[in-house]
Amino acid sequence: MAYLTQPDYVKYVCSCGQLKPITNLYFCRHCLKIRCGFCICHEVDSHYCANCLENMPSSEARLKKNRCSSCFDCPSCFHTLSTRATLAQPRQPVPDAAGDTKVENKQPKKMYYLSCFNCRWTSRDVGIPDQPVASGGWPERTNPFTTRFNQLLDYYKAIAQQEKQEKLERERKKFAIRGKYITLTDKTGLTGAMARNIAGLPSSESGSSAAIANFTPSQASAEVEELPEDIFTKDVNLKLTTSMAQRLASPAWQPTSVSRLHPLAKLLSVKRSQRCRACDHNLTKPEYNPGSIKFKIELLAYYHVPEVKIISYETVKPGTKSALLLKLTNPTGHEMTLQLLRPEDLPPDDKEEPKSIEKSLEKSLNLDKEPSYYKAIERRPVLSDACRVAAPAALLTLAQRDDAAEYDDDAHQDTGGIVLWRKSNKLALRLEVETSETASPGSPASATLALQYSYRNTVPPAANAQPHRVHTLYAVITLQLGLVAG
Ligand SMILES: [Zn+2]
Ligand SMILES: [Zn+2]
Ligand SMILES: [Zn+2]
Ligand SMILES: [Zn+2]
Repeated sequence: MAYLTQPDYVKYVCSCGQLKPITNLYFCRHCLKIRCGFCICHEVDSHYCANCLENMPSSEARLKKNRCSSCFDCPSCFHTLSTRATLAQPRQPVPDAAGDTKVENKQPKKMYYLSCFNCRWTSRDVGIPDQPVASGGWPERTNPFTTRFNQLLDYYKAIAQQEKQEKLERERKKFAIRGKYITLTDKTGLTGAMARNIAGLPSSESGSSAAIANFTPSQASAEVEELPEDIFTKDVNLKLTTSMAQRLASPAWQPTSVSRLHPLAKLLSVKRSQRCRACDHNLTKPEYNPGSIKFKIELLAYYHVPEVKIISYETVKPGTKSALLLKLTNPTGHEMTLQLLRPEDLPPDDKEEPKSIEKSLEKSLNLDKEPSYYKAIERRPVLSDACRVAAPAALLTLAQRDDAAEYDDDAHQDTGGIVLWRKSNKLALRLEVETSETASPGSPASATLALQYSYRNTVPPAANAQPHRVHTLYAVITLQLGLVAG
């Protein structure tokens, strides 16, 4: 797979034109296209705390400001804080009203505090009292700007709501102009109030306009607080001053002194599912349980597209031919036929059919989603043709993946032709790279290669579709072959 310390020498061209290593790509079994993180939809499936693995619905996560209520990060080094227990002696007996001191033999009580195992910061350092229960109840500081924050929030919510309303109107007009005379409400039998309700908008507009009218914008002022007198004379003690990262970790307080640091409630993580923008099918879907790292759906290119690796190559020189050894792997459970092509010999792209009006209507009813969000920006990748891999016409077959064959030692050596050796679902190719006279020495030597491969689709076909299950697919690959020699 990918090596963390190595750059990606082999990159695939995604259907949107981005160049990505195979480990960063997805494969849509429904469109039969390679997709990348840039051209798919990312959706939040669930929120969870990475420390205590508590799961929560998104409404609750929003209420808790996307932070866990029982886990904390160190405000000094951002490592997770641990709860530690100590035995506290009960306080000295105090004289009661009658003036007698009752001496009770109290058991020492367990008290808890937070401690960082990484930098040794503890909640006691900043005077937070120990708590009698391990599971928190840690004192929360109130944000001094809460009122202003809430005013701003209300104001921006009102603006967002107005914009949604305007967009809804625009969409309605657009469809009416097309002569179809379908409005969202006619189409679905919803009343306007119901539609607003579904979209999470309040039932009247008066609230939002009032919030906008009553809002007082912030005023810039030329008068600022004077600096303390000793600012230029006092020695700076960096041990008592917080770093920029520490200040920005709690934006509401931005403490300048370490004595004002406070445990940071841990940010929640999300599980994402990813969806193909063209056909709306899921490409990945994680299991709901936050403790599981498995996926219900996992359409990674690494499992569907033949993998190309560089074994070795000769130094690329302008106007010469150099040797290149490649390894091809068939990751699928079916035999694969492969042929190398030049990128210009690829058949032209078949255009995706435009979306039906029904589909667009569905999309526009879902007001949280931008319609433009369904279209990825596509571009032609810049593929240099200074180096090109000579594509032999030979048709290669690659056996299906066999996990047991991983333990076999001996590879089958082929002496003639372009195949160097074969082993189970892998083979090594002996190829030639032609470098043009004009390639400038010192520039990166990047060779382009196209692959034609057979792909057996295991998606059950729709009832009326013909059972044509084996497809011919194409992939364009760029190989980084170091620098052009002088
Ligand atoms: Zn798709
Ligand atoms: Zn892409
Ligand atoms: Zn937690
Ligand atoms: Zn720490």
